[in-house]
Amino acid sequence: MRVAFLGLGIMGRPMAANLVKAGHEVSTWNRSAGKELEGAQAAASPAEAARGAEVVWMCVSDTEAVEQVLFGPEGVEKGLESGAVVVDSSTISPSATLKFAERIRAKGSDYVDAPVTGSKIGAEGGQLIFIVGGAEATVDRLKPLFAAMGKLMVRVGESGQGQSAKIAMNLMIALTYEGFAEGLTLATKLGVKAEKLLELVNASMVRSGVVEYKAPFVLKRDFSPNFPLRLMHKDIHLMLDAAREARIKLPALETVEEIYEIATDEGQADLDYAATLALLEKWAGVEVKGTSA
Ligand code: NAP
Repeated sequence: MRVAFLGLGIMGRPMAANLVKAGHEVSTWNRSAGKELEGAQAAASPAEAARGAEVVWMCVSDTEAVEQVLFGPEGVEKGLESGAVVVDSSTISPSATLKFAERIRAKGSDYVDAPVTGSKIGAEGGQLIFIVGGAEATVDRLKPLFAAMGKLMVRVGESGQGQSAKIAMNLMIALTYEGFAEGLTLATKLGVKAEKLLELVNASMVRSGVVEYKAPFVLKRDFSPNFPLRLMHKDIHLMLDAAREARIKLPALETVEEIYEIATDEGQADLDYAATLALLEKWAGVEVKGTSA
């Protein structure tokens, strides 16, 4: 298929590379120069990339970025072919997604929200899980592209529901990780070795994919960004905004948001979100590490 891929960051770049590898005809655009991709045609603007494309796939930071890429001065809207499909793999506001979808549909094209889970390793290995909202027939047409980049695609429902399910899942990830980090901090303060605690966690009902993914990095004290703290913080704001719109309370998340505020003030925004552990350690006067770290 002819695909325009917009946004070659931590996730977008390997996703686009997997489309090239699968034999699709890919054009790319990235806001900052110097992020060209081998095997793909670099475009000067989102509009230029979108011209002639059957599918325009985005993976950029946040709601504002998606709005600019779609409707900015040289945005997708200006080059979009009638009958094309716009797919958004960024994690953004569910209610803004509904508005974007309506505007794109008014142009005779279709819109699918397809945020992902699986992080950098999943993107690189073509093992992402796509969490999808949109018309069933349109989503079906995209199956070869989902298959090139991921191991599973779940259509949650109509437009916006992919984003709604995605932020609900990230809520659980953020809270699970904070639980893990607090448990590790307490155990270390009480003299328990991190590896021993992990052995127990992994053998018991406490085990989780979040812990499995993050523990090796934590034990090595490698907080280089797989999922940058600034992006999880952005997602926490999306969750709290959605909760306000739905008039519900998420008290544990509100507390975790305060931790992210402090971590951001302490200069950790560009580290992985696992770096929130460092704050707990500072408050406890301990450092968690594996024996080989
Ligand atoms: P990233 O490495 O920070 O890349 C962000 C991309 O967005 C870059 O290409 C950046 O362009 C572009 N961008 C930012 N603001 C823009 C704007 N105003 N206009 C146009 N382009 C703009 O982020 P990422 O990790 O790839 O994440 C991308 C999306 O996937 C986010 O919504 C994130 O929440 C979601 N996600 C990430 C992960 C993960 O583990 N990393 C997992 C699941 C979902 P420049 O190069 O010019 O800065």
